[in-house]
Amino acid sequence: MSRERNSSPETDEGTTIERTSPEAVFELLADDTRVEILRRLGETPDATVSFSDLHERVGTVDSGHFNYHLKKLQGSLVRKTDDGYELTHAGRQIIGAIHAGTYTADATVEPVSTGVECPTCETDLVAEYTDETARIYCECGDPVEYFFPPGGLAGFDREGLPAAFYRWNYLAFQRTLAGFCPLCAGRMDGELVLDGDAPRMTSLAGDSPADTAHFEFECRRCGNTRRPLATSPAMVHPAVGGFLADHGIDVRTDPIWGIRERLDDPRVELLSEEPPRIEVQFSLDEDGIVAVIEDEGSVERVDRTSAAGSNGTVDGRESDG
Ligand SMILES: [Zn+2]
Ligand SMILES: [Zn+2]
Repeated sequence: MSRERNSSPETDEGTTIERTSPEAVFELLADDTRVEILRRLGETPDATVSFSDLHERVGTVDSGHFNYHLKKLQGSLVRKTDDGYELTHAGRQIIGAIHAGTYTADATVEPVSTGVECPTCETDLVAEYTDETARIYCECGDPVEYFFPPGGLAGFDREGLPAAFYRWNYLAFQRTLAGFCPLCAGRMDGELVLDGDAPRMTSLAGDSPADTAHFEFECRRCGNTRRPLATSPAMVHPAVGGFLADHGIDVRTDPIWGIRERLDDPRVELLSEEPPRIEVQFSLDEDGIVAVIEDEGSVERVDRTSAAGSNGTVDGRESDG
């Protein structure tokens, strides 16, 4: 089966995308020698490896057999350069997925304390991990669940895991907000949903025609969805990050449960229904910041409300720079 038969170039205004069918790529992985070639190239992902060095790394198989399988991988998973062979991005992702445990994972972490008490029930918030999912919970509420790749567990001691779960989730959410699906790199679209049925929703304050709001982000290509609280896009906005930094909080690394312990409950108001827009007000130590979030999840404007010397407006999406 030649690669040509499984691929079809698409050209659009100077962008050429040559697609190899997924069936053809996964068929490549159904052979031990080919997986071994990818693994051996993956030992030095930034280096180009000559034919003879690569053959030596793979070992056993005779040169003709080795050459046959190497040629099969070329184009989609392995690139041939003047100096030898290297993994393509897709090849590196397959090696990365093997390391991350995507294809092989079965890991469990027994409950470990986050070091933070639930403000409502005053029991310890704990984190546990099964089925590739981290759960943060106390006695009074439903768990907050985060995906975490099992291959990431080994890099941390038990006490460090809850914060690692949070950081992974923070980065995946940033990628989602930037419009990229964390699973397939397709486009993600966001939508503000009023009175929906997500596991966690934000209560709306004031005289509102709706009681709750949350965001739905969905990938146009693979259907991957993410349903964060209505406050989440504001929480990761750089101006809100700056506000929190003024109070000694680093939103990139300090887990959200610790931040919530210090922040007053955010006040969220519906500004309009069609399209829905909300205003989120965070306050901390008598200092405050207000963010307006559009229906697709972008932060339209941010105002500091009481910080000394910084009563200015900070633009969201649009900036002059
Ligand atoms: Zn609780
Ligand atoms: Zn996707």
